[in-house]
Amino acid sequence: MAEFEPLQDEITAETLVVGGGISGITTAIETAEVGRNVILVEKKPTLGGRVLATNQYFPKLCPPSCGIEINLKRIRATDKVRVLTLAEIESVTGEPGKYEVTIKLNPRYVNDKCTLCGECEKVCEVERDNDLNYGLSKTKAVYLPHMMAYPHRYVVDPAFANDDRMKKCVEACPYGAIDLDMQPRTIKATVKAIVWATGWQPYDATRIDNLGFGRIKNVVTNVIMERLASESGPTEGKIVRPSDQQEIKSIGFVQCAGSRDENHLPYCSAVCCLASMKQATYVRERYPDAEVHMFYIDVRSPGRYEDFYVTSQADEKFHFHRGKVGKIVENPANGNVILEAENTLTGQITKLEVDMAVLAVGMVPNTVDQAPPLDAPIDEFGFLIAGGDRGIIGAGSALRPMDVAASIQDATGAALKAMTAEVRR
Ligand SMILES: Cc1cc2nc3c(=O)[nH]c(=O)nc-3n(C[C@H](O)[C@H](O)[C@H](O)COP(=O)(O)OP(=O)(O)OC[C@H]3O[C@@H](n4cnc5c(N)ncnc54)[C@H](O)[C@@H]3O)c2cc1C
Repeated sequence: MAEFEPLQDEITAETLVVGGGISGITTAIETAEVGRNVILVEKKPTLGGRVLATNQYFPKLCPPSCGIEINLKRIRATDKVRVLTLAEIESVTGEPGKYEVTIKLNPRYVNDKCTLCGECEKVCEVERDNDLNYGLSKTKAVYLPHMMAYPHRYVVDPAFANDDRMKKCVEACPYGAIDLDMQPRTIKATVKAIVWATGWQPYDATRIDNLGFGRIKNVVTNVIMERLASESGPTEGKIVRPSDQQEIKSIGFVQCAGSRDENHLPYCSAVCCLASMKQATYVRERYPDAEVHMFYIDVRSPGRYEDFYVTSQADEKFHFHRGKVGKIVENPANGNVILEAENTLTGQITKLEVDMAVLAVGMVPNTVDQAPPLDAPIDEFGFLIAGGDRGIIGAGSALRPMDVAASIQDATGAALKAMTAEVRR
């Protein structure tokens, strides 16, 4: 709701949070609920981050709508969080206690008269790649980013705002909600502390040439697998292989695809083994006869997640193979993929043919593309360093790969650090 209030050119708050994923949302809410004002800046058209793109999330295997809905309810219940979507930080000066921040607000091209009637979308002739589905499906150029989108409002892809064909959408809107003349705007914010929670992106699997992603149709990544399993995904939840849309009878999960590998990401992304075991449940529930194979160096299921591993091991159709997959080739006769793996203990080479392979790629911090301004120290992989909390404070997966539960705990700590930043400097 704060999103819809008139926005002054100069605003103030105790804390600025950059990144509207689960970490940033948590920091913002925890701060607001103790009575402090927060500005929450998200560069995309909706809050939610990567969790919105999952089908279910472990450990409870709930759909992302559960957690997001509770958090959005908390945001709506307070007047202390000013949400700015389609927003970017242009510059920051100052120090803990007083930062001056320039924020650029990119146009949505849809104003607050939008009632979600969908008339604009119906007549729209322009299509764009659906980034939520990693380009595997299209949306219209005027679209609702997600069923759970916040703000719950359409947006026009800026690449098409000047396209003459969009005028039809303007004319179709009964409420005058589409305004293709909207311009970017810059505002100034004065805040006492800044929390940087810009999250992660998947490692670019096309860089792992030996595993064939981008060349072999039936090799997908773990983030794509989430979308294939999701009802809002490109196949409406049918886990089918891209080459011929056949439902799968066998699948191979390739762990550490580029991770723990000095040529790619030397570190472990901490969640990939659990994510693959979770994705195996998607397959087993939908296709009870399907055989699931997981190739691993070691299975990492820390703490209470061990239960999840034990349950997976008990499934007679879930086969665990110790081995690093070094090569994937296509069987041209049927489009299947052949995984060649080396047992990391015995050195034995095995080959296995399956319908589709899923590469468990790791998490790369978004700070690699856009480092936070000022005094935030970054480690050799681009993650923010937690000890740098005397200046800009890192939160969630911007600090290291972590799951949702850890991100929430970390982001709650970041809220407290921000509240005390002034006295700790
Ligand atoms: C395949 C896979 C499956 C997973 N499944 C699970 C699971 O089942 N359970 C679980 O607990 N965890 C799971 N995870 C981990 C989970 O995705 C992360 O814990 C979670 O996304 C971390 O949230 P975050 O807010 O730190 O980052 P993000 O979700 O990445 O959110 C960051 C937000 O910041 C925004 N942003 C980025 N840069 C800027 C900028 N410069 N300015 C403004 N905004 C910016 C982004 O648009 C985004 O909205 C999975 C991970 C993978 C790889």
